[in-house]
Amino acid sequence: MKVWVSIDMEGISGVVDRDQLLPDGRRYERARESMMADLMAVLSALKEEPDVESIVVNDSHDGMLNILAEAMPGGVHLISGGAKLWSMNQGVDAADVAFYVGYHARAGTPAAVMDHTYSGEIFSVTLNGQEVGETGINAAMAGHWNVPVAFVSGDDKLALEAKALLPDVEAVVVKHGVSRRAAEYLPRPEVNQRLKEGVKRALQHYRDGLVKPWKLAEPIHLTVTVMTPEMADRAMYCPGAQRVDGRTVAFDEPNMEEAFRAFYTVMAMSDRPLY
Ligand SMILES: [Zn+2]
Repeated sequence: MKVWVSIDMEGISGVVDRDQLLPDGRRYERARESMMADLMAVLSALKEEPDVESIVVNDSHDGMLNILAEAMPGGVHLISGGAKLWSMNQGVDAADVAFYVGYHARAGTPAAVMDHTYSGEIFSVTLNGQEVGETGINAAMAGHWNVPVAFVSGDDKLALEAKALLPDVEAVVVKHGVSRRAAEYLPRPEVNQRLKEGVKRALQHYRDGLVKPWKLAEPIHLTVTVMTPEMADRAMYCPGAQRVDGRTVAFDEPNMEEAFRAFYTVMAMSDRPLY
């Protein structure tokens, strides 16, 4: 079994604030230790399973330089660095099963720690009419390559979003969202225990054939609603973009690879929110 792990930061057990999320933040280095702790709990549980033949970790947060390569246990490969074509999904095409660690709820979710969808420019995203966040976009990418998502971890809102979309996913709650920038934390030993037990259950569900790739009907109808009409004006430079309304552009793409490239181009063209 080839296991691939995408790790983000907003859904990590000790993280609630922007000051923890970016390398120039005063609290970043401490938050990075929490990120490593969540990851190590997942990796140690994976490594206890004799049928796990390989593990690849894809650093999936911000500049994607958060995970310390020298801390990776033997046999674990790390994809580090940004500007990779499939972004948070880099490497999942070669895996049997995908795990999402430290994920967060989509933009607009109440009482969800640091809710957003890929960037601050995005208000909402739909795929074939269904509203999705990063979990959905990435699960659709994994599904395009026939890879199921067996495990997610994050706050309680992420767990609800993931279970609504992927009913057989193992969703581990490592903190409870109080507001966008506040959470109620669990003790570290309980976080570790929940993550380890979640990994075991997720692998068993995969072995039992209970988790299926999330495959969307093609062609893919993608809509992206950005924060302002000016951002949508700029998004219209993307080939194939159709203007739906002031803040929304749409695309009809043959498959998820092309839909993802369109989505990412909208983000790049939209630039940052206006003040
Ligand atoms: Zn992130």
